[in-house]
Amino acid sequence: MKNDSEFTAEFTAEMLRKAKDNLMYFTNKPDIVFSRGEGSYLWDTEGNRYIDMIAGWAVCCLGHTPPVVADALNRQAALLVNPSPSFYNVPAIEFAEILCGISCMDKVFFINSGAEANESAVKLARKYGQKYKNGAYEIITAWNSFHGRTLAMMAATGKKYWDPLFPPRPEGFVRVNYNDIEDLRAAVSPNTCAIMLELIQGEGGVIVGDKDYIKQVREICDSNDIVFIIDEVQTGLGRLGRMFGYEAYDIEPDVMTLAKGIGGGFPLSAMLAKDKFCCFNIGDVGGTYCGTPLAAAVGKAVVEEIIRSNLVDTVKRNGDYFTERLLALRDKNIGICGVRGMGLLLAAELADESAERVKDICVDNYLLINAPNKKCLRFMPALNISADEIDGALAVLERALLEVYS
Ligand SMILES: *Cc1c(COP(=O)(O)O)cnc(C)c1O
Repeated sequence: MKNDSEFTAEFTAEMLRKAKDNLMYFTNKPDIVFSRGEGSYLWDTEGNRYIDMIAGWAVCCLGHTPPVVADALNRQAALLVNPSPSFYNVPAIEFAEILCGISCMDKVFFINSGAEANESAVKLARKYGQKYKNGAYEIITAWNSFHGRTLAMMAATGKKYWDPLFPPRPEGFVRVNYNDIEDLRAAVSPNTCAIMLELIQGEGGVIVGDKDYIKQVREICDSNDIVFIIDEVQTGLGRLGRMFGYEAYDIEPDVMTLAKGIGGGFPLSAMLAKDKFCCFNIGDVGGTYCGTPLAAAVGKAVVEEIIRSNLVDTVKRNGDYFTERLLALRDKNIGICGVRGMGLLLAAELADESAERVKDICVDNYLLINAPNKKCLRFMPALNISADEIDGALAVLERALLEVYS
């Protein structure tokens, strides 16, 4: 779809040339340059409008450029950006109170990315092991998991093809098969200080944790005094049609990490813990940008908006609708053989390894979707996406599937 007032093709070509000259290569990107976003739409420099099922990677929970984020940024930027992490500031205090109020957690540590929040959770668990569990330091994580890209979080993450990268690897991470309680039980030892899991393995292709499994993990942690860390970076703050994913599993974690949606697109993350586990000493964690008023003001505005607009209920409704429509598409036998997920974290399993091709055809037709692996398409739109926008996206997807599978 065209919009007349945008840039020219020459400008786009120049941008792409400069991008290749000056931006460090680390992944393949399509020859598109985005310049503007609103709600569930993005516009490129040639005025094409895309419907966005990626939402900044499950980040822009209120859609692109929501007014509450712009307002909070503007207001706070004019007041105080960063007094330094060694002083208290108003937005961080107020936002921490909100997060503790809506979750089962007692304390918050703010940082900037999901990987850093998880890294901080691992530090907290190892501190707990050092202080109260004879130096236990091992963290059990799951194969097919994703916890971030710092060196330690790459070791925590369950991607086999990452293991040989950047040796030597940080030690002390033990991987087990997801949803396999016996495998996990066998991995627990006196050295285990924590078990860290996602409730839905998002990057792993939207693999949903079994309720029984998660409950049994909780029991294993309780009976062995092991810290249960739940990585809610992708599942937290409404994405699953619950404020936090753990609510759908009828358990409470000991430590929880949040990122992605928490800033509505602005970099911010948090590691939350119950009082019993808050055992850091001076200097154990920190960072120049931990809990800046600017980031906290944005996070506070985003979460207040999630609460005010009852967004969690909207996600439940939209998630049901989206799932229903995906199932209808599956029933047409044009390539989708399975649908899974919860809320607005959904995936379609394809009959063969054409996910990349389907995704590329969708992008050519102005629909942005993600293919986490060769057989899977993932949908993680803005939480306030409308039924019409879902219909629009699925119409493009249907045409792409017809092109590949008929
Ligand atoms: C995205 C993600 C991370 C990493 O977050 P970054 O902000 O990219 O560091 C960690 N855990 C899960 C479950 C994620 O989805």
